[in-house]
Amino acid sequence: MMSPTKFTLTTLLSLGACAGTLPQAAAADGFTDTPFVLNLDGTPMQWRTHDPRRPKPKKVEGTLQNTPRPAEAEVLFDGRKASAWAPCARNKKYGPPTLWPVKDGVLVASYQDLQTKKSYGDCKLHIEWRVPKNRSGQGQRGANSGVMFGAGRYEVQVLESHTNVTYADGQAAAIYGFMPPLVNPALPPGEWQSYDITYTAPRFDEDGNTLKRARFHVVFNGVVVQNDQELIGDGSYRGSSLFPTKQLRENPKSRYGHRLLEKHPARLPIRLQFHGDPIEFRNIWVIDLEKDAK
Ligand code: MG
Repeated sequence: MMSPTKFTLTTLLSLGACAGTLPQAAAADGFTDTPFVLNLDGTPMQWRTHDPRRPKPKKVEGTLQNTPRPAEAEVLFDGRKASAWAPCARNKKYGPPTLWPVKDGVLVASYQDLQTKKSYGDCKLHIEWRVPKNRSGQGQRGANSGVMFGAGRYEVQVLESHTNVTYADGQAAAIYGFMPPLVNPALPPGEWQSYDITYTAPRFDEDGNTLKRARFHVVFNGVVVQNDQELIGDGSYRGSSLFPTKQLRENPKSRYGHRLLEKHPARLPIRLQFHGDPIEFRNIWVIDLEKDAK
């Protein structure tokens, strides 16, 4: 599960921070006091995490890919029960963990994060999402969710990004806190949008050093927006945890203010984020690419 030192919005929400009670920093539309984002070779980019100055991807046309579930895929949600999912932990003062409601065949983000009952490593996920009509985003607020792998560590951002502007590494289809999408094919609120995500799970050796970093290939409304992008670490709020290496362990200066990620199993649940907003989901299916390797 998540490291206790990790500070993400997901963590905050899991701890019971609901809409209206998020810390003020979460409402800010970018930061210039965060660690520099690192290139894959460990050198710093000119941009800081959630840097409002980082260039915004070009707007392009996108088209919902309402792809039927292939025979080899497992249903994660088909408009009926959300029985493939379980609620994540929730601060007791907000009530017991509660499954998201299904309304008119649509799964509506509510209460706290949700995660699959089964665990997945390398996989392909299809998911369709919609910001309710007449709902607008204000930076990170108002229309935010996420599709997260590795039990919440690696987030493909879900956000109203048709007209709403936020920091580039936090807009729709960004690998949150690291890599903006190559272009922006976001559709307006009220319209269904699709992600086809291929996730490659990281692998670690027994000492906790990284053998392979995680990767995301993301097709957003039919457009490739993350091209088998390797990750530098997890997707923490205001900074990332880097995939650990011997060199990073032995030379803290080379981390440029980032923490080190702890090793974790390749197979972990997929999560959907509740960020205080009633983002809607439908037609979710997954192909387990390691089914035969278990
Ligand atoms: Mg999010």
